[in-house]
Amino acid sequence: MKATLPTLLISALALGLVACDREQSSDTDMQTSPGDSAAELATAAVNKAESDSQDQHFDTLSEKMIEELWQLFPSWAVSKGYYAVADQLQVPNDAYRDRVLAFARQYREQFSQLDAESLDANDRSDLALILNFLDRTEWELTEFQPHLWNPAEYNVSHSFALILNTEYAPLEERLRTFSERLENVPVYYDAAEKTLEKPASPQLVLAIQQNQGALKVFEGEVEEKLAGSGLSEEEKRLFRERLENARKAIREYITFLQTRHSELEESQDYRNFRIGEELYEQKFAYEIQIGMTGRELYERALTEKEKLHDKMEELATELWPKYFPDQQPPEGRLEKIGMVLEKLSEHHATKETFKAEVEKQIPELVAFVKEKDLLTLDEDKPLVVRTTPPYMRGFSVASINAPGPYDKGANTYYNVMPIEEFSDDRADSLLREYNKYMMQILNIHEAIPGHYTQLIYANQSPSLIKSILGNGAMIEGWAVYTEQMMLEAGYGDFSPELWLMYYKWRLRVVINTILDYEIQVKGIDEERALDLMVRQGFQQKAEAMGKWRRATLSQVQLTSYYAGYADILALREEMKEKLGDNFDLKAFHEKFLSYGNAPVPVIRELMLGELQ
Ligand code: ZN
Repeated sequence: MKATLPTLLISALALGLVACDREQSSDTDMQTSPGDSAAELATAAVNKAESDSQDQHFDTLSEKMIEELWQLFPSWAVSKGYYAVADQLQVPNDAYRDRVLAFARQYREQFSQLDAESLDANDRSDLALILNFLDRTEWELTEFQPHLWNPAEYNVSHSFALILNTEYAPLEERLRTFSERLENVPVYYDAAEKTLEKPASPQLVLAIQQNQGALKVFEGEVEEKLAGSGLSEEEKRLFRERLENARKAIREYITFLQTRHSELEESQDYRNFRIGEELYEQKFAYEIQIGMTGRELYERALTEKEKLHDKMEELATELWPKYFPDQQPPEGRLEKIGMVLEKLSEHHATKETFKAEVEKQIPELVAFVKEKDLLTLDEDKPLVVRTTPPYMRGFSVASINAPGPYDKGANTYYNVMPIEEFSDDRADSLLREYNKYMMQILNIHEAIPGHYTQLIYANQSPSLIKSILGNGAMIEGWAVYTEQMMLEAGYGDFSPELWLMYYKWRLRVVINTILDYEIQVKGIDEERALDLMVRQGFQQKAEAMGKWRRATLSQVQLTSYYAGYADILALREEMKEKLGDNFDLKAFHEKFLSYGNAPVPVIRELMLGELQ
């Protein structure tokens, strides 16, 4: 952000003189006569002033947009650590959607008038993200329209849980915010019921489950906190009244959904959860933002799956005599790979030691990254390993919970599922899956130098836009990229066991892409999907069934891992080619991460720009 221009010029620009500035600046290069140094200097000064003013105008406009954005999307604001609007809950009715649409169109109009070419690199890439976001917002409201068919869109619990559980302010202040926010819960669910048309089946089932879970946020803990707080008796009375109304509204919504569910079970007249090729490609373009179509990525994934099977076969053949000294390998290569993987999975932690093992590995990863000089790690922000708090428990074994752009000083948590509380059977299956080898890949991916490291760099990036409108493919792609990068650098001492297990992990990433496309576009059923995951991907059946469910609930997101990974790897190879002997891996990593959560093609443009 820059703040060097006289105020007068800024306000003139803000009043709508942008268009003529744009024409001038695009002409000036040609008008300059090469020999006339005074004229050249003058022109350069004008150009500089113009591009500064464009940058200034861009900054002002994007700040204004973010302010309005948080008013329109207070729950999103809370998830980013911006609590100034936390007492508000928007009611998802037609009037609200009209306002969002008007917001998107109006800012689209204003941002389109800026001359992208005259912006500095950082603002230019922010602008691309903003335009993509505004287009996508309009597309969601007018084309994709999940508010009509996805009842799981309606769930108020998450922000309430964050307000209650994040210590961003004293408890009393948070409880007052909570209370204000509760007021709209009944009208919120009322609008949801009025908006919904014919739902899709998996989304309907999920909505029932999630809203049942949501009720817990409004019981027990919150009542205890309220009772022990310094709120006045009158405040407490009002709080309890609103709390009761909110619970009632959620229960009524659940009943409404259950009734719809039994009607539709009868008629089997659900909306198709598969979104089809056209919507898929549109969603892919908005969300993934790489230079290829969903179909192209899918085809690439099919080829990659074959290559991975080849590599895994080689390693399985090498390891066979060590683990099965008196046994002939089976005929089929997938069977052989599967047997070796099964054998290796026997090396795992116990229910009781799992979390401690995860914790123990973090300093080892830090030491390795330092020793090999792979990138600089911020020592001021230690990672706190903890058991996943109840309100955050879902599907994942481990996840990173990083502070948002407004709350950079807060702790970063590494949430680990409480496996010690599981039944022996369930725990055993999980422990085999996250065995001694896989646990290392998991820790690289989630923690160091994967998500945790990337998010710390992202919070240091000067761009608020990139933090807010972050690109999922870049974030997941980085984590997947680091797994390979660490192993290539010698982590695990090139043990064939670790590499084989790593290929299984990467195969899962590749299969996620295939699965998503084949379910959403080609319409494969659960049986075909399970064959892909279990027989061709060596996944446990329970895990694969969970993935099938996830793949029927989301679209495109499952491709982000492979899309981002492939793009980052291609960029690294391109930079190696361009820089030759001057290529430095550490410098590449730090530069790459310094731009924040931008789409990889945008980072590529910025990196190439700086080379020149
Ligand atoms: Zn991840």
